[in-house]
Amino acid sequence: MNILIITAHPNPQSFNAHIVNQVQKSIDKSHEIQLLDLYAERFDPVLHFDEKHRRRDLIVDSETAKYRDLVTWADQFIFIFPIWWSGMPAILKGFIDRVFVAGFAYTNTKRGLKGNLKGKAWIITTHNMPGLIVPFAQDYGKILKNQVLKACGISPVTISRIASVEKISDQERRKVLNRIIQKAKKL
Ligand code: FAD
Repeated sequence: MNILIITAHPNPQSFNAHIVNQVQKSIDKSHEIQLLDLYAERFDPVLHFDEKHRRRDLIVDSETAKYRDLVTWADQFIFIFPIWWSGMPAILKGFIDRVFVAGFAYTNTKRGLKGNLKGKAWIITTHNMPGLIVPFAQDYGKILKNQVLKACGISPVTISRIASVEKISDQERRKVLNRIIQKAKKL
């Protein structure tokens, strides 16, 4: 499989960076892996369009061409990011705005969006809210799963959430990380 890991954390020493590292190391060598670290890339998340640079031309925007190529190449996506204000970090939201554009990731039809992408996805998030409360929360990865990835044709999409990440003990963090490692080995 072609596996694209997309991550969004400003600190290369963070727990999220550690997860990325461990997942990357655990994936079977028969797969091809590409890592897209949006902060390391200094990805510009601001979407611009106006009369001169039209929205319909985003599909041929040369600045984002390499990311569209990566998304087309992948048949397994792994998103790894912390939950900020209930959802994904702004840099990742901007990546979706600029790369998952109409005519590429989806087509507008009378019945709504028709997804044009292929592959499946695994979303790994960390957050401070206790896990018991998350099913009742608005986002916590659900928007990326249902409103973005599934709408664009990527399915199935699973989510692994690491709850209370700053409050649990090192031992508990190792335990949850080990579950993620075991899942990565089975990809
Ligand atoms: P870190 O802070 O890097 O680490 C977390 C813990 O893991 C620390 O105890 C650290 O010692 C330990 N650790 C770090 N590296 C390693 C390693 N290599 N090995 C083992 N242990 C390690 N949370 C919510 O639930 N809901 C929200 O709406 C929300 N909004 C937020 C908004 C903002 C702007 C911010 C900054 C935070 C918000 N949070 C929210 C909390 C956020 O989700 C957590 O801070 C984040 O998930 C922690 O992940 P991290 O990678 O930054 O962890």
